[in-house]
Parts: sequence; C-alpha cells; structure tokens
Amino acid sequence: MSAHPEYKFFDAVSASFDKAARFTHWDPGILEQIKQCNSVYRMHFPVKVGDKVEVIKAYRVQHSHHKTPCKGGIRFATAVNLDEVMALAALMTYKCAIVNVPFGGAKGGINIDPKKYTIYELEKITRRYTHELIKKNFIGPGTDVPAPDYGTGEREMSWILDTYTSMKPGEVDALGCVTGKPVSQGGVRGRREATGLGVFYGIREICNTQEIMDRMGLKPGVEGKRVIVQGLGNVGYHAAKFFREGGAIVTAIAEFEGAIYNPDGLNEEEVFQHRKKEGTILNFPGATNILHSPEALELECDILIPAALENVINAENAPRVKARIVGEAANGPLTPEADDVFIKKGILVVPDMYLNAGGVTVSYFEWLKNLSHVRYGRMEKRFTENQNITILSQLESLTGKQVSNRDRRLITQGADEIDIVYSGLEETMIGATREILESWKSHPEIPDMRTAAYVVAINKVATSYAELGIFP
Ligand code: GLU
Repeated sequence: MSAHPEYKFFDAVSASFDKAARFTHWDPGILEQIKQCNSVYRMHFPVKVGDKVEVIKAYRVQHSHHKTPCKGGIRFATAVNLDEVMALAALMTYKCAIVNVPFGGAKGGINIDPKKYTIYELEKITRRYTHELIKKNFIGPGTDVPAPDYGTGEREMSWILDTYTSMKPGEVDALGCVTGKPVSQGGVRGRREATGLGVFYGIREICNTQEIMDRMGLKPGVEGKRVIVQGLGNVGYHAAKFFREGGAIVTAIAEFEGAIYNPDGLNEEEVFQHRKKEGTILNFPGATNILHSPEALELECDILIPAALENVINAENAPRVKARIVGEAANGPLTPEADDVFIKKGILVVPDMYLNAGGVTVSYFEWLKNLSHVRYGRMEKRFTENQNITILSQLESLTGKQVSNRDRRLITQGADEIDIVYSGLEETMIGATREILESWKSHPEIPDMRTAAYVVAINKVATSYAELGIFP
C-alpha cells in the first residue's frame, strides 16, 4: 500500500496485485518493481477559452517499461486525477501482458469536462497536450502510444497525429504514434468496436466452458442469456450489439439520466437513436423507465456488463446485485469490497484487465499496420481467392456437384482487413480466457478469476524482467 491517502484506486490495483503475488514465486524486489509506476508526468498548461485564460491540468503515466512502447488511452473527464491515471496505467501493463500485446502500460488524462468546450477549444487543448508530451518524449511510435479512452475518440486521435507529424517531419513511422485513428488517417478497420467485441468474445468463451456453466447451474452458450449493460458509450453500445447479434437478450440499458428495462429485449441502435433525438434514454417505446439509474445494476439477469466508469459496484450495492456473471467492460467498475461480496455470493466476476483488452489488442494491430505501411489483406487477398476458386472448381468437376452462389462466395473469398482483425481479436480473447482459466484450475486456492488473471500477468511481466537480465 502507498502511504499517500489519496491513492485509493492505485492502492486497490496494488492490493489485487499483492493478493495474486502470493500465488507466484518471484523475488519481492521484482514484484515491487512491477507494481510501481515508472514515470509520472503531471503538467499544467494555459489555453485561451473565450476571452479568458484557463489553466488545464493533465497527466501521462508510464507504468512499465519492461516492454516498449508504452500503451494506453487518454481520457477527458473532470474526475481525472493522478491516482486514477496511475491505476489505469498499471491495469494497462497487466492487460497487455495477459493478451500478449508487447507493450508496457500507460495512461493519460486531461481534467476537463469536454461537454463544456467548443470543438475548436477541444482541439486547442488536445494539440497543446500533445506538444507537452512531445517536449518530454512521452509520445512516439517507439516510446509511448496513446489511444482513445473515456471522453475521447477518433477525432482527438487525428489531432494528436497531426500535431505529432507536423513536429516530426519525415519520421517514417510517425503514423504509429497514436492508435484509434480514423481509417483515413492510418487507423485499422474494427478498432472502433474492438473493446465491445472483445467483451463479447471473452464472455462467450466463458459461457462455452462447460465446467463453469455446470458449476454455476447455467445452460452453456450465450444464446438466450439475459444481459444488462450499464453505459451506452462506445464500449457499452458495441457490447450490447454483439450480445444481441449473438442471440442474448439485452433486457436493460443504463445511462446517467436513468435506465430502461424490457424483458423481451432492447435494440441498442434504436435506443441510441432515441437518446440522441430526445436527449434522454428514458421513455423508450415499450420499455419501463428506471429513474434512479444505479437500480438497473440490481435487476435480475444472467450477465451484467458495467461499461462506464470505475467504482460503480461497491460494498453498498454489491449485496443487492442479482447477476450470475459480471463482465467488467469498464476499467475498475468494482471495488475490492464488491469483489469479496461476489466471491461469497458465488457470482463470477470476469475481470476488466483481460475482458476489455480488445481495444488495446486491435490498437496493437493498428500499430503493426502503421509500421508495415500496408493494409491487412492487401498482399494476399486476391491470391487466396484465385487459389480457392481453383480448388473449388476441381472439386466440382470431380464430384459433378455445384455449390450454391452463397457458399461459393463464402468458400472462395480472401480475407479483408476487417476479417483479419476480427479473427485476430477472437483468437486473442479465446486464448487469454483459456490461459486464465488454466491458471485458476492449477491453483484451486485462488479465490477468484481476477486473482487468476493477475497471476498470469505477473508471471509474464516478471519473466520478461528476469530475461532482460535486470534481476539475477
Ligand atoms: N483505452 C483503452 C483501454 O483502456 C485502449 C487503450 C489502447 O488502445 O491503447 O484499454
């Protein structure tokens, strides 16, 4: 634990780390080195807003340099503070390790309410922040690569890219200085939905694991499972979409202003459009209003997906949660006290640092694309198609049978960028789920899946330090 009274979130992450470290055999020095934030950069800079000068407070924390570049999003929110950015940077290290993304963890944040500024002002703030990062070598394709997070998106990433490239003319890999960019600016197809899709792949793998479903008395598979999603931002929206498309029933969606409930299922796109038009999620046709939004977390369901901010489920409300599985799409939505309550209640918590790793996984694919300067599929798509057409026509002439036009298309088509990204993400999430479950199984004394995930992460980061030769 740190002695600092304000490092609550970072301390919670450290506490989870310590809980897991007991199941490993690493030297205490290595463990301590892994836990600490390697570099912390806090900055203040002035920005002219209207006719006043505003002093903006911002951060970038590089939690671990055991692999470089460092990687992690940048959030814009009034809740941003050093403790939060440190904790989220640490989670990034463990997250990357679990899904075998070869980066150290980082996180950035600007303490603003983005809704209070014009687009022009936001651009000025983002560009100035990027300048500050450049000045201290806290950004670059080989040093530290930001990405979207709460309150930021493709637009902000293009401003960062443009600021960086204008300051570093001729740097051949400059496109890789930030990920989550629009496709026209070197982004990769599939990045936007990646976190939500990763959440779906991860939970689907859990639901397909017979042993776990038997233990929980649930039917295997995602189909027919009742899902509640808290937060209809990028992550929540896409998680809801993929669950619905996968045959689950999204019975409730919660936002700040309230929540809506319909046992027959909600369509996230219709809800999104309704909210855009009406300015509120409430009064959605056919659904029941829940005026006090947090109550939605306490409704009967199979899978609860908190996809907004940290600490939404805590000692106070955890005892009333009725879900069987809680999938942490957000970072840190459960406090350690909530974890303890759920262990006692037999609720399976699928932890954030692995479940929401889809975003950084596809960021990794984007970074690789930027460094290779070629779109996925460009070199091999046509070759694969020609080869498949030849194989199919040989089979047809040998058997005397013809496949339907629909099947012909499916069999012959070569992979596009989106196919490669989706399959890479699916493989990553399934692989990570199995690895964590294996680690859990081999240490039955590990109390929960979060601890099992930390054990996997600690072992990987510690191995990497040990093999660097830093520690004998
Ligand atoms: N902000 C996302 C996260 O917390 C994505 C980070 C990234 O793509 O680098 O995982």
